[in-house]
Amino acid sequence: MEGGGGAGPACKHHSHGPHQPQARNWHSIHKDQSKIQAAFPLVEDYSSCDIVKATQYGILERCKELVEAGYDVRQPDKENVTLLHWAAINNRLDLVKFYISKGAVVDQLGGDLNSTPLHWAIRQGHLSMVILLLKCGADPTLIDGEGYSSIHLAVVFQHMPIIAYLISKGQSVDTTDFSGQTPLMLSAQKVIGPEPTGFLLKFNPSLSAVDKIQKNTALHWAVTAGNVNAVELLLDAGSNLDIKNVKGDTPLDLAHQIQNRLLIHMLTQEEKMRIRKNSRLLRMLAKYEFFLLLLSSLTLMWAIGYIMDLSSDSWLLKGSLLLFIFFGISLLTRQFVELKNLKYLPAIFMLSSIFWLSMTWFVWFLPDLADTIFQIPFILSVMGLLYYFYKTWRTDPGYIKVSEEERRKSIVTLAEAGHLDFRTFCTSCLVKKPLRSMHCIACNSCTARYDQHCLWTGQCIGVGNHYYFILFLLFLTMVGVWMVYGTLLYWSEHCATTYRQDGAWTYFTQIVSCSPWVLYIFTLVSFHTSWSSLMLIIQLYQIAFLGLTSHERLNLMIQSKCSKHAASLRKTPYNHGCFQNLADFFQCSCFGMFKPNIVDWTKQYTLTFHPAKGKNVHCV
Ligand SMILES: [Zn+2]
Ligand SMILES: [Zn+2]
Repeated sequence: MEGGGGAGPACKHHSHGPHQPQARNWHSIHKDQSKIQAAFPLVEDYSSCDIVKATQYGILERCKELVEAGYDVRQPDKENVTLLHWAAINNRLDLVKFYISKGAVVDQLGGDLNSTPLHWAIRQGHLSMVILLLKCGADPTLIDGEGYSSIHLAVVFQHMPIIAYLISKGQSVDTTDFSGQTPLMLSAQKVIGPEPTGFLLKFNPSLSAVDKIQKNTALHWAVTAGNVNAVELLLDAGSNLDIKNVKGDTPLDLAHQIQNRLLIHMLTQEEKMRIRKNSRLLRMLAKYEFFLLLLSSLTLMWAIGYIMDLSSDSWLLKGSLLLFIFFGISLLTRQFVELKNLKYLPAIFMLSSIFWLSMTWFVWFLPDLADTIFQIPFILSVMGLLYYFYKTWRTDPGYIKVSEEERRKSIVTLAEAGHLDFRTFCTSCLVKKPLRSMHCIACNSCTARYDQHCLWTGQCIGVGNHYYFILFLLFLTMVGVWMVYGTLLYWSEHCATTYRQDGAWTYFTQIVSCSPWVLYIFTLVSFHTSWSSLMLIIQLYQIAFLGLTSHERLNLMIQSKCSKHAASLRKTPYNHGCFQNLADFFQCSCFGMFKPNIVDWTKQYTLTFHPAKGKNVHCV
């Protein structure tokens, strides 16, 4: 190779060596530049080196000197590699600009694989070089000697930022290569593991597209490669199970041919599930699933209390009846409740609890509490509890939603600014993350000013419903306190014992035999009251004294433990003093005493508010 002999191992490998895909993450691209620079120790005397070497080392002055002396930048070396190729593979941005200004052909094919400089830059994962070459007019649809276009190469070498950038710049996610394979098929076949198949699925590729030769869909390719993760993702995305390839085989037939038991199991289960979903009865059940679940939960809770309240003295009988009910219910749930609807169970438990608490109040306690002073606050508390539970549950917590167009725009902007990394960009939602937001895996979305994922509602608590959540906790605590009061009153009226006279044990056995139902409800009340009051206190402390969310506080505490310099929880840019924090949180001016800051946390990316207070910035 002319002048390329001293190119060093890195260059040799990239131009002529085997092209093995390497596992890479989003971060590694930033390291490539330094890695390549490290592979080429600085030359002290570059005045005599030839132009190929000078290009590889990125010595702009020497290259300019040689070009001005008459070297033709379009001239390829013996192996048909141009200077632009060398500059592209080594990420020499200035040299690429210089050569193109001097007339270098941006889409020149060269090297063993008949590739363009863009292909070389993509294999190496140089996003900044890809951006520059595209700006200079490089054609990403050109196919190299292996039959791959640019996006296919990015898939094979797993460079997710480049895939995202190419698609956002208008490359179709269903671009076909020489054999008619789309990037999704190629990923399912060549890259074992969930990525980049999962990543590509976010761009809504065609699942039923087939290649030119085998007429395989992406699912066929994943099965032939034994790529379990890809098969799982493709099934979740709704791939068709009945499409036949050129030999008349469905994906399941292929799984039988390669005798992969796991895949056979996955495909047959999926088939069964889809048939079941189409059954009329089950579809109707699914429609009213929530109400059916609520009804069964109400019955279950009543049944437990009823069995405990039975006049029989045999706890063995009661115990076995309870066990029988538990097994029956868990069997029914497993059979009829879809996995994704299990998240409703805590909400259903909460609603049933509220129902039976109120019933107990009205049926058991009301006769003793004739005074309306007790009735009105209790009824108001229950109504408030139901209202704020509903609001917490149904209000959008601040999920970050962007249109396809906005998403593409933001990917291009971030990539071109060199900020396409996971601290500012959510690789799951493909959106720029606002300040204080977090990606919730359960909701599969980024949530603005994320506090926590609430078990009771199966939703996130974020900027949209945090306020309602606090009020829900407050009302739950209030109802709990009223119930405890009612229970104590009931015991003192109806159980012929007092704690002072008979001691703890007799008192306990008396209240058990006096009314097991009341004791049962009391246990339920104690559970709800203790967690809600504790959480309310913690939440109010965080909001008023720290100005932080639970997630931020936890992060800061972990950071403090890991680093030598303990980060103060109070010195964050979000803490504006107790009263101002409360005014900001509840958006309340308290009759003009405070001026709440209005910040749209779904669109806030920088700390531009309250500049004077933003001195002690901790990364939260
Ligand atoms: Zn996200
Ligand atoms: Zn969530």
